[in-house]
Amino acid sequence: MISNIYTGSDALLNRPKKEGVKRFGIMGGTFDPIHHGHLTIAEWVREAYNLDKILFIPSGCPPHKEGRKVCDALARFNMVEMAIKDNPYFEICACELHRVGYSYAIDTVRQLEHQYEEKVEWFFITGADAILELDTWKEAKQLVELCEFIAVIRSGYQLDQVRSSLSQMMEDWQPKGIYITHLPLIEISSTNIRMRIKKELSIRYLVPKNVEYFIYQHHLYR
Ligand code: ATP
Ligand code: MG
Repeated sequence: MISNIYTGSDALLNRPKKEGVKRFGIMGGTFDPIHHGHLTIAEWVREAYNLDKILFIPSGCPPHKEGRKVCDALARFNMVEMAIKDNPYFEICACELHRVGYSYAIDTVRQLEHQYEEKVEWFFITGADAILELDTWKEAKQLVELCEFIAVIRSGYQLDQVRSSLSQMMEDWQPKGIYITHLPLIEISSTNIRMRIKKELSIRYLVPKNVEYFIYQHHLYR
């Protein structure tokens, strides 16, 4: 077992914060569209891990969604922006929107590190599905050595199974810190929302009201 893969938040909460250093979460995703699953886990992770802020970073051109038509980046960005606007701990970052070519997490984290220098510790928040695909991400080994990860269990995944798969994947890596967390499961996915819209089923309560209006107004996912 790799030593710095943890379950829960104790390991981080017991690590004293360095003077003047903030802890920020990065919530990256395609957000096609953003939904209450994303928002709830961001809020719960922020609280459970005592993070100072969560940066939502919609991908400009997601490398993992090839073979499927992804909604226009600006529309996805606008939906994230309206979904988070009433939470003072949430912020949106346009860094992947302005980048040419595929959006890679490693480039984003390097850019943020450069921007904030050593005043911030970064925690990349993902669902279990996303972190288990980490070995397909660009420069994954460097990425886990650069920033810490908080992985939230999604339905269909078991904590022990995620932990052992990650240990196996990271056998020769030196991850800075991976925290696997078992918050109450929220079975919402963008795939399911897109499917419901196509079938003309209700998406009420799955996405914020303003996002729902935006989707209908712009005839998205028909
Ligand atoms: P899609 O179905 O199109 O893949 P999604 O709902 O998985 O959409 P993404 O934009 O792919 O949303 O996800 C961004 C990040 O949020 C990923 O790390 C994903 O694992 C995580 N995530 C999304 N929904 C949930 C959820 N309900 N519970 C926990 N994590 C989630
Ligand atoms: Mg997904």
